[in-house]
Amino acid sequence: MEEKIKYKILVTGGAGFIGSNLVDKLIEIGHTVVVVDNLSTGNADFLSPLALFYQQDIRDYKVLDMIFESHKFDYVFHLAAQISVPDSVKNPNKDAEINIMGTLNLLELCLKYGVKKLIFSSTGGAIYGDNAPIPTSEEYCPHPMSPYAISKLASEHYIRFFSDQYSLNYSILRYSNVYGPKQTPKGEAGVVAIFTEKMLNNEETYIYGDGEQVRDFIHVYDVVEANILSLQKGDKEVINISTNSKTTINELFNIMKKETEYNKFPIYKPQRAGDINVSLLSNDKAKIVLGWYPKLKLQEGVKNTIDWYRTSI
Ligand code: NAD
Repeated sequence: MEEKIKYKILVTGGAGFIGSNLVDKLIEIGHTVVVVDNLSTGNADFLSPLALFYQQDIRDYKVLDMIFESHKFDYVFHLAAQISVPDSVKNPNKDAEINIMGTLNLLELCLKYGVKKLIFSSTGGAIYGDNAPIPTSEEYCPHPMSPYAISKLASEHYIRFFSDQYSLNYSILRYSNVYGPKQTPKGEAGVVAIFTEKMLNNEETYIYGDGEQVRDFIHVYDVVEANILSLQKGDKEVINISTNSKTTINELFNIMKKETEYNKFPIYKPQRAGDINVSLLSNDKAKIVLGWYPKLKLQEGVKNTIDWYRTSI
């Protein structure tokens, strides 16, 4: 019988929502996992005790260098980031320090220590802008409309430069709106987590705009699977990870209302500046290049998320 190869893997941002789900899966399939996370938005309680955890900042090159030197990673999943769009508008400098300079630190160290591949979490939800053709494919030239989206796109360019110049291997995964267990309801994004908390506590829920904004909600387990497949596939590719299924915020509200037996109506507030009206990403490339497709339908994924909050929070 063929023996599965076990790798030494670094996950930056491994105490965060997507990162901690990825860490769980990597450990389940037998890899050795090291996490670097400064816990600025992550939660150490969500982190598997089987991962080796460094509470460190990706802006600290010297510390990262010591971690790379002592572990000799095969693969690096880079998820650590400043992820708030409004915070990036308020403080673009800090956003760039974390998202661009932090990524550059990792790129240099991946080269220095001969990492086989860097798998980067980017954003399809924010990067393409408001006038993109729907559904949006990777071919469309991004028009980032916030410092967060700019810093993610700049990171993608640096990754490509390191690949062209020094043959570093990579996959760039551009996610649509990710939801699922362990997402914090505290941020301004993550509408599924926010609705879940409000509905389970029977509090008022707010919808910004008329609720007819279209989103492409992808469950975190599907995002994790795309990352795992990228260990072996999708070399030097930029790939959307999405459902390519339209859901309006009003539709989401109604699905979640039923699931939680919530009996209030939403309160509508003015649309927030910078909110994109329609975000829908083509996933044809992911199907072809990774052999991946989204497995969880929204109804099922929402139920899984609500069940998780009911039992874990
Ligand atoms: P998250 O905030 O839960 O995770 C980010 C993690 O990075 C946190 O644990 C945080 O503590 C850590 N971190 C932040 N700054 C750091 C620093 N300077 N040094 C070390 N650690 C630091 O967010 P998430 O939703 O899990 O996002 C993970 C990645 O996926 C991010 O790169 C994000 O841009 C990307 N992404 C997320 C979505 C989504 O819908 N959630 C969509 C597109 C892309």
